[in-house]
Amino acid sequence: MSLVVMKFGGTSVEDPAAIDRTAKIVAGRVAAGKKPVVVVSAMARVTDQLLRCASSSAQGDRTGALAISSRLRSRHRDTACALVKNPKEASTLANWIDRKFDQLDEILRGLAAILELTPRISDLIVSYGERLSSRMIAAAFAERGVNAAHVDARDVIVTDSQYQKAIPIDAIIEKRAAEKIHPLVQEGKVPVLGGFIASNEAGITTTLGRGGSDFTGALIGGAMHAEAIEIWTDVDGIMTSDPRVCPDALRVKVISFEEAAELAYFGAKVLHPATILPAVKKNIPVLVLNSKNPANEGTRIISLAPHCKSPFKSIAVKKKLSIIDVVASRMLMTHGYLKEIFTIFDKYQTPVDMVSTSEVSVSLTVDSNDKLPLIAAELSKLADVKYEGKKALVCMVGEDIRGQNGMAARVFAAIRHINVRMISQGASEINMSFMIEEDDADEAVRSLHAAFFQQPDPEIFDVEARKPAGANSR
Ligand code: ASP
Ligand code: MG
Repeated sequence: MSLVVMKFGGTSVEDPAAIDRTAKIVAGRVAAGKKPVVVVSAMARVTDQLLRCASSSAQGDRTGALAISSRLRSRHRDTACALVKNPKEASTLANWIDRKFDQLDEILRGLAAILELTPRISDLIVSYGERLSSRMIAAAFAERGVNAAHVDARDVIVTDSQYQKAIPIDAIIEKRAAEKIHPLVQEGKVPVLGGFIASNEAGITTTLGRGGSDFTGALIGGAMHAEAIEIWTDVDGIMTSDPRVCPDALRVKVISFEEAAELAYFGAKVLHPATILPAVKKNIPVLVLNSKNPANEGTRIISLAPHCKSPFKSIAVKKKLSIIDVVASRMLMTHGYLKEIFTIFDKYQTPVDMVSTSEVSVSLTVDSNDKLPLIAAELSKLADVKYEGKKALVCMVGEDIRGQNGMAARVFAAIRHINVRMISQGASEINMSFMIEEDDADEAVRSLHAAFFQQPDPEIFDVEARKPAGANSR
């Protein structure tokens, strides 16, 4: 029934102008005969500020916490006031916002008295961001001719009780969506819900983890068998590489879920694919779109990408990494050695990005962090340890490298002038990653981009956008 879930991130609802643009985008979909269900994030930076409120008051800084809350109150009141002009609606909304902030302040005062922040209370505090934004945006939509109906997402998204990273219960969500959202859509209304927030079966507020609004969008889209899920953000979609480093970078028009997942780790700015899994499982396409440039077609993420003439879809880079070399002859023919090494990383809660082993050595890469000296000290009880920072990981992703001969030769030929420290060809067979000096990273990306995206497949990449610049540079 042409149902689309439209999720708008924090920057798409950051101020009255952004909310106004968002309303126009939704109105456009309605005019085109679609039935949108809208999911919104908290206004930009609000989640961080609420978390700061919570930790300040738990540390006894009641004044500091209340000061942040008071600034948030003004920001929401001012935004509501700028958006909603109907006097009756405006005063109802202003009073409602005040009541929410009175409640929040009450919680913050309590926290400053008990000086203990539990994950459950943290979720309750942070939930105000989406509760406020969704209610306010629904009112703004209504005034702009969108027949909006606010729905408290906590009545629909039901999870277990793992506060701060709760796991959704699909069967209940499906039932609740059918009861609470579907009838509104049938009546021609546009339901507006906050992302990220949920509740457990007892009705206690939980959250889906940071960035969880995309997840909400996918859960609702999945539960309601939407024809598409649109993730509205502030970039044009997934690019072939970072346009700041590589001015030739192109928008990727279509990418597979697996490819997007490989890239996510590098460019979480766009979206984290794990969060759209509920959509992918049901074969619902996910579109990444730019609310500041709505005419742009964005990137379409689908389960199976069409065949592409170029082997790679995108080149991603992660900087500020360190490489740790662990060398020990003791490793020879022993088992459990890797386990011992990883136990130490686990103890310091440091994720390992890439591993390469030989009979006598293991090299690992991690995000540079202040625990490295401690980790190295513990590792040196097992073996000789060296570590070095300022490294970068370059990752080339594409389904079409599967089974292609000579791909490694082509990649390394393109960067033959650059010293490569570590190589890994992903088990997924769709990525090739290698580790180089951070100072070489930009140059490596430009060389690789020139080698692999010279004749981009117009089915997959937005070649139109490049024409003017391309014509001059080649
Ligand atoms: N507001 C939440 C966050 O900042 C959820 C989201 O926007 O996706 O993490
Ligand atoms: Mg996000």
